[in-house]
Amino acid sequence: MNRNLNLVVDMYGCPNRCKHCWLGHIPNKAPDKDIDRRLVDYFKPYFENITFYSWLREPDYAPDYKARWERDKEISIGIQPQRFELASFYRLARDRQYAKFLKNTGVKAVQLTFFGMERETDYFVGRAGAFDELMDATEVLLECGIVPRWQVFINERNKEELPELLEFSRLMGLPERCREIGGEFRFFVHEGSADGENRKLYDIRICKDSIPEKLIPYYMDYDAIFTEAQLCEKYHESEEYFIPYNDTDVTLNISGELDVYFNFTHMTPEWRIGNINTDSRETLIDRILNEKTPALETARKMTVGQLTEVYGNRESGRVFRDEDFKMYLLNRAAEEENRRV
Ligand code: SF4
Repeated sequence: MNRNLNLVVDMYGCPNRCKHCWLGHIPNKAPDKDIDRRLVDYFKPYFENITFYSWLREPDYAPDYKARWERDKEISIGIQPQRFELASFYRLARDRQYAKFLKNTGVKAVQLTFFGMERETDYFVGRAGAFDELMDATEVLLECGIVPRWQVFINERNKEELPELLEFSRLMGLPERCREIGGEFRFFVHEGSADGENRKLYDIRICKDSIPEKLIPYYMDYDAIFTEAQLCEKYHESEEYFIPYNDTDVTLNISGELDVYFNFTHMTPEWRIGNINTDSRETLIDRILNEKTPALETARKMTVGQLTEVYGNRESGRVFRDEDFKMYLLNRAAEEENRRV
């Protein structure tokens, strides 16, 4: 009873199918509306504080997002849900009241995700019209006094187009217009983690020596990225274990079908803790508190050195950060183990 629980439930799904989505593409399957209270009651005997979020993917994708936000606050116990720099660009482009709602809840900046100009952004978001909606969302946010932040995913396919997107943000006057409303425009580029859908883009993962020079000042923590070859060299003899774990807070991601996962990485069978409807509560709570999933078993068996030897590519110039690289290796091992059993 001494830990905080974040319950993050995919009650409404997501309109997009982004090819970089770290959660992986899961179906939009709405659980019963009363599941929110049921889930809080289910976990109440085991956690002192419970913070409930009715969205796991697109925030505010609920048709009645205002009432939904109030409901999330009402059923949370001890610690209230927070707003982040995340919002629905789908809704920003369609509902003029939405930006006002964000402003009233204290949101000062909203992150919008791009993959280049129109063709590339529509392709990687998985929906025609996404780029135009992101442009609309940028304008709507500014009108409402909220700063838009442009997050840009880079890969070998779109890299040449990104300097043009940077230039475009300058032509739109975004740095000056954000300053006028008391904020700072940020344009930042990164490669994304290597789990979920982005893992499937391994073949076009950006190589360090092909990042356009013009983008390096805008690259997020450029000094923290390494080539896969460098990381193989660093870790091939490592005896450490890479075992993701919960600290004082436990965060559970719950799908529309009520499958339960930690928020360490994507939602695949190796990471599934269990199911609210089909597993007993005793079993599920034991697996949560003692951190038992097939992938965590794999993590306890193989050192980072062994993972690197088996799954690392010593010839690869692809970019990773330390933790993303270890998670990428672990996921490959866990999937292979899962296929064997
Ligand atoms: S990245 Fe976000 S918006 Fe894109 S598919 Fe995943 S959850 Fe939806």
